[in-house]
Amino acid sequence: MPIYIAPVEDMMFLFDKLRNNKNYNEIEKYKEVNSELVKNILDEAAKINQNIILPLAKSGDENPPILENGVVRTSPGYKEAYKKFIEDGWISLSCDPKYGGQGMPKTVSAFFDEMLSSASLAFKLYSELTIGAYNCILRHASDEIKDIYLPKMVEGKWSGTMCLTESLCGTDLGLLKTKAEEQPDGTYKISGQKIFITSGDHDLTENIIHLVLARATDSPKGTNGISLFLVPKFIVKEDGNVSSRNGVSTGSIENKMGIKGSATCVLNFDEATGYMIGPKNRGLNSMFTMMNLERIVVGIQGLGISEIAYQNSLSYAKERKQGKANYTKSENETDFIIDHADIKKSLLNMKSIIEGERALCFWLSQQTEVSLNHKDEKVRQEASDLVSLMTPVVKTMFTDMGMEITSDAMQVHGGYGYTKDQGIEQLYRDNRITPIYEGTNSIQAIDLVFRKLVNKNGNIIDRYLDMIKNDCNIGDEKIKPFGEDFNIYIEILSNFTSWIKEKIQNSKDDASAACNDYLKALGFVSIAHAWIKVLEVSFKDYDNNKDFYEDKIQTAKFYFKRVLPRVENHFKSATTGSDYIMNFKFK
Ligand SMILES: Cc1cc2nc3c(=O)[nH]c(=O)nc-3n(C[C@H](O)[C@H](O)[C@H](O)COP(=O)(O)OP(=O)(O)OC[C@H]3O[C@@H](n4cnc5c(N)ncnc54)[C@H](O)[C@@H]3O)c2cc1C
Repeated sequence: MPIYIAPVEDMMFLFDKLRNNKNYNEIEKYKEVNSELVKNILDEAAKINQNIILPLAKSGDENPPILENGVVRTSPGYKEAYKKFIEDGWISLSCDPKYGGQGMPKTVSAFFDEMLSSASLAFKLYSELTIGAYNCILRHASDEIKDIYLPKMVEGKWSGTMCLTESLCGTDLGLLKTKAEEQPDGTYKISGQKIFITSGDHDLTENIIHLVLARATDSPKGTNGISLFLVPKFIVKEDGNVSSRNGVSTGSIENKMGIKGSATCVLNFDEATGYMIGPKNRGLNSMFTMMNLERIVVGIQGLGISEIAYQNSLSYAKERKQGKANYTKSENETDFIIDHADIKKSLLNMKSIIEGERALCFWLSQQTEVSLNHKDEKVRQEASDLVSLMTPVVKTMFTDMGMEITSDAMQVHGGYGYTKDQGIEQLYRDNRITPIYEGTNSIQAIDLVFRKLVNKNGNIIDRYLDMIKNDCNIGDEKIKPFGEDFNIYIEILSNFTSWIKEKIQNSKDDASAACNDYLKALGFVSIAHAWIKVLEVSFKDYDNNKDFYEDKIQTAKFYFKRVLPRVENHFKSATTGSDYIMNFKFK
């Protein structure tokens, strides 16, 4: 089984030293969320993840859920762990106290999401979609529905799902066939089949609240005819108690490459009773509230899996002896593999990306809270623009880097990484879904380039680039060398941005074929920006914690010298255009 120690020290460093967004600090309801409280939460979070959730990763992988007489039974140990998980209130961490939640900001819940993803992504998914559904109901449902459903979901007694995908409708939701027939009492009968539904059925909760996209019988074709419906597994009476079974059944459980402990189900809706949430034919907009927040959390999944892969690689490299290192003076016949430059480089690559991503995520969590809760509408809008720009970047970068890091972790472990003994190959398999679900990474890149670069408030990307240019031109002599490197790549990204904006207008295929590269270039620059913020504190506060800050400065040095230059490759490759791609005839 892999080892895992939650990175509480790094998380507390971010919370204590980088919680410096003025607008975030003006949010009244978070003024009492102080360092001591957060340290207590993270220490407890570390205990449950290290001791109770981590062992479930192997159990779920070896004994996936089964469908027995129409009921999905979860993997051994899941029920007991879930009971403790909800009793300790982990599911309600970021939920509104009005519905029984603890009201913690995303600056705290994101740390918990990372730990849980490291410990067991498959287990995490049972609660993750509940929070997604909670967010959607909170923003779009009537007070009556909120009062009935939210307290039970926040308590963890009922869970949630999101049901979009059908066999012929994945990325292109306009093709959706599930239909909704309005009844005289204002409810709907929902009929159709949904596939790939995470936590579609299981035995952890007494009810499951499905949020289903369907087309009302009198609605138009395409995305403008889709509405959102709440469809409970068991009908809920007015007094809030569950009664009879609704017309939803599980056809099968998907047989998957990874996250095997998560029950991914085919669900059949057979005239199931559903309640419309939000305005008719605007279902996609309502669902996107859930999906946008969810996409950042999927990015965090990639970060969490990267962290555990890195920790195990480091530990293994310190104990595995093979070959003589170049510089060693020891008389030993062999040295530890960590002494080989190539392995050391690989470990630093992982570490510099992971810590940079965590700092970027912390910055984004503050922006997200400002966009949702600041009292000034203009401030909220500005933050919301930044969140909208960075959401596809975080989702894609963190999950793609998760693939690179879990693959490199396997390489560090050699054959023992490929075989099942150390649990490393499982991390690779588990992470592989993250670039696919919640909108594939290619679709995120298209969304970034064709929709996010420009919005109704103008060029968000130009504002973002101005902001980071400003942040990196700090007078401090020690940061200057980093700032000089950074300026070179910001300039390349600016040129890339002008090029791609021109192509959006005049050569769409050039722009489409460059989307993934553009997203990566922006991603590497954004992580560098987060590192500049870390460096600022590291130099200023150096004498108070020399070991910690020296480690940060050296890790940043690696990032700026070895990782950030990838921006140029993406730029050069993408700006060669697409004629030779589009004109190619496959035989
Ligand atoms: C384990 C698992 C859990 C899931 N959980 C859920 C869930 O809880 N709820 C739910 O509703 N769905 C869920 N899904 C479905 C998931 O979101 C979809 O698989 C995903 O959105 C992609 O859809 P698809 O599989 O139909 O691929 P397709 O849409 O067929 O795409 C195939 C390929 O074509 C590319 N492509 C498609 N359109 C374009 C385009 N316009 N331009 C360029 N490239 C394009 C895609 O990027 C992809 O590489 C889950 C899937 C899995 C495997």
